[in-house]
Amino acid sequence: MEELMYKSTRDSSLRVTASKAVLQGLSEDGGLFLPTFIPKLDVPLKELSAMDYRGVAYEVMKLFLTDYTEDELKHCIASAYDEKFDTEGIVELVYAGGAYYLELFHGKTIAFKDMALSILPHLMITAAKKNDIEDEIVILTATSGDTGKAALAGFDSVPGTKIIVFYPKGGVSFIQERQMVTQPGANTCVIGIKGNFDDAQTGVKNLFANKELKKELSERGYRFSSANSINIGRLVPQIVYYVYAYVKLLSEGKIAEGDKLNFTVPTGNFGNILAAYIAGEMGLPINKLICASNENKVLYDFFKTGVYDRNRDFKLTNSPSMDILISSNLERLIYLIAGEDDVKNKELMENLKNEGRYEITPEMKAKLDRFVGGFATENDTLKSINRLYEDTGYVIDTHTAVASFVYGDYKKKTGDLTKTVIASTASPYKFTPNVLRAIDHDVQSDDPFALVDRLSEMSRTKIPAAVEEIRNAPIKHDKVIEISEMQQAVLDFLK
Ligand SMILES: *Cc1c(COP(=O)(O)O)cnc(C)c1O
Repeated sequence: MEELMYKSTRDSSLRVTASKAVLQGLSEDGGLFLPTFIPKLDVPLKELSAMDYRGVAYEVMKLFLTDYTEDELKHCIASAYDEKFDTEGIVELVYAGGAYYLELFHGKTIAFKDMALSILPHLMITAAKKNDIEDEIVILTATSGDTGKAALAGFDSVPGTKIIVFYPKGGVSFIQERQMVTQPGANTCVIGIKGNFDDAQTGVKNLFANKELKKELSERGYRFSSANSINIGRLVPQIVYYVYAYVKLLSEGKIAEGDKLNFTVPTGNFGNILAAYIAGEMGLPINKLICASNENKVLYDFFKTGVYDRNRDFKLTNSPSMDILISSNLERLIYLIAGEDDVKNKELMENLKNEGRYEITPEMKAKLDRFVGGFATENDTLKSINRLYEDTGYVIDTHTAVASFVYGDYKKKTGDLTKTVIASTASPYKFTPNVLRAIDHDVQSDDPFALVDRLSEMSRTKIPAAVEEIRNAPIKHDKVIEISEMQQAVLDFLK
């Protein structure tokens, strides 16, 4: 059989191994890595349904990380998915209000980013060993709020690595910011930028593309890599939980083998839902992928019209981790629906860079029939938290609520009764003031931790360790810079 390698979405002739793709993050030509073909699941779903999360993770990831040995990969999986998670199952599946909520927030930093970022450092260290890399790896990360802390927690004190996180000052929740700026660890650096997430992400991409900077750092024994969802070391672990959700429902007798599921995913950078798409291409029976946006609904418009247009106002919403107008991972889907045409993809991405928009061809649009786009306003989001709570007592976070609203709307409009899994991407505690406001109209206090206590009372859930831990933690990082100062900040930290 042909050996699976990785190629760039902007130059299909380029070939690297999986471990090199993990190490590099982004391809040198600015493209994103994709496997040369999408492998098919080679173990029957019935058989997978008898396995635990780690077992399923191995069966899925081995198909993509082809130059990792069985021992290496199993070691990475065992080191990642352990007691760091507050539930033995690693994820939970909760039925409420007519859908299954796939809770992906049981890791250390209580957002779904932990699903991939608990394993990425292990994949990267293993890759460095395999490729005889002796340079220190510097992880550069832009965050819309959740990736930052999850990456910090993953790379904290990992020998041979340093991590720098840029977040939009004023564009993340109180708990998100507090989680990041209290991060200990001599190898960590957290910086606020005066701009939004797109500015941070573009700034980081520019640092990656800066050949002089690369050379200078290389002379000093450093090399950059990325913990953002452009790294296939994040994409691949995210495929696992879609397969796991399916086989879990199968083992519980909620579905029969071969039945199709819908997945609804609250979407920003398009990483999470792209993983679901790939799971479908691997043979997981999927009906619709429902892509849920907040008021930054660039993806909703794209699925409707075939035009991607970021020329619009950037809105700060109550689901800040989805406040994104340049969804990086969409490039991978564009490349695939263009028939793996690197020239076409490159042309569209250049249009995006230069004019802020591009339009796909009707043939490409026809290949998007698995996707349905929807969006929720700020008010829809809060109402959806409230309704689910009133009906069932179950409390969801604002991002999950965007998906919950969009799914309800889809079901009403289409009458589609296919069983549906909603990706629940963060613990409600991470967005306490807004969540609490949605379920408790009398809420008075301005003290964020008093609100946390109240949320615990009302939801009858225990306050997660991730929140308890930052109540009194000292602030370790307080730097705020202009976007133009990002490069200097990196150099300062690496002095
Ligand atoms: C990152 C994030 C999202 C968006 O996921 P993408 O992979 O960027 O589409 C949604 N919800 C939460 C809570 C997140 O942290």
